[in-house]
Parts: sequence; C-alpha cells; structure tokens
Amino acid sequence: MIIVIDGPAGSGKSSTAKKIAELLDIQYLDSGALYRALTYLWLMNDKPDLPEFFKILPGVKLDAEYRNQTFIINVNGEDITKDIRTQQVANHVSEMAAQPEARKFVNQYMRKLVMSDAYIADGRDLGTAVFPDADLKFYMIASLEERAKRRYRELISDDPSISFEEVKDNLKNRDHQDSSRAADPLKKDENAILIDTTGKTFEEQIDEMVGIIRD
Ligand code: C5P
Repeated sequence: MIIVIDGPAGSGKSSTAKKIAELLDIQYLDSGALYRALTYLWLMNDKPDLPEFFKILPGVKLDAEYRNQTFIINVNGEDITKDIRTQQVANHVSEMAAQPEARKFVNQYMRKLVMSDAYIADGRDLGTAVFPDADLKFYMIASLEERAKRRYRELISDDPSISFEEVKDNLKNRDHQDSSRAADPLKKDENAILIDTTGKTFEEQIDEMVGIIRD
C-alpha cells in the first residue's frame, strides 16, 4: 500500500505523514530528504559541475530508513540526517532537484523501497510522476505566511542566527523554482484530495485525513 502527500515547501506534509504513519503503523518515506542528501553530497564535494557530480552517483551508497520517528539518511556509511536540514542545503536543493539524473536516481530508489512494505510518502510529484497508481493521494497547501512560521519554529532551535524573512524567502523561491521547471513537480494530480491547513490545528488536519483514509 502506498499513500502519497504532495504540496509546496512547509505545507506540513512531513509532520502529517509521520503522524499518520504512527497511527496506521506503516512506514514513512521523505522524498525531499533524498534530494537534500544528493545536494549535501554535492556541496561537500565542493560543488563540481553537475555532469561531473552525476558520474559519481552510481558509486554512492544511499540508505534511508524511518526509525524512532526520524527519517534517517546514510550516505556511504555516514549518518547525514541532521546535515541535510541546513539552510545552505535548502538554498541549493531546487537546483539539484531540477536535474533529470537526480530525479531518476531518487525515483528509482523510492520505487524499490516501497516494494518491501506499506508506506506513506511525502514530496512534490509523487502522485503525478513517481507513484501514479498510489492507493490514496493528498495535496496539502497553506498560506506562505503560515508555512514560513512553521518552518521558522523548526529551524530556530538548531540555528538561532536564522531570520523569519530568510526562511520565508527560501520557501517562496523554492516554490517558484520547483514549479517553473518543464515538468512542473508541484502540479496537483487531478485525483489528489486537496487539504488546506491554513488556520487548522494539527489535530484537526490529522483527523480529517485519517478519516478519509479509513473510509
Ligand atoms: O520536502 P523538502 O522541502 O525537504 O524538499 C526539498 C526540495 O526537494 C524541494 O524544494 C524540491 O526542490 C525537491 N523535491 C522535489 N520532488 C520531490 C520532493 C522534493 O523536487 N518529490
């Protein structure tokens, strides 16, 4: 079984998907984390030209696993779970995610992973491109202001130097970059159920979505 949640940056997809995974006792897959992992690796290798970077991809050992409420990412044996959440990675990830080679790598990895278990996955193009036959598709949205507030609250404890405006600008730029590519990965699938979380509490949105899943 595969349930997907797509939507723009900071719309609450990952916290929602994690909570639903816990309630339904299924696995969680964070597709954005995989793009972030490639971005981190690229930055760590001093940002070579992308064609050069993609030459090393076949030799990269990526392991992702949901454990203790955390989507853990290992690259070549190194745990980079925390490193992929920095603002520096966030500032470059859309550039990486625009590359067909990166999308192919991430999509192949995800399709293989979900063959082994029941999953709820969150991302941008899961319902449209990666899992078009998903059992259930959601598309979550919220106002930019609300998304920026949520993301700022998440980031500020790890990086007190970060500003609200910086977080808001990054979300806005990423949405713009993510949706202006040829194959717009932010396009809502026609069968996806729209969930607008603006003004809703976390509990309200979870109740609504779990109700739909259980129906
Ligand atoms: O979900 P998160 O904000 O961590 O995603 C980081 C970035 O990864 C997005 O801004 C987008 O560029 C890319 N992404 C994507 N397709 C997905 C998931 C994420 O292009 N399915």
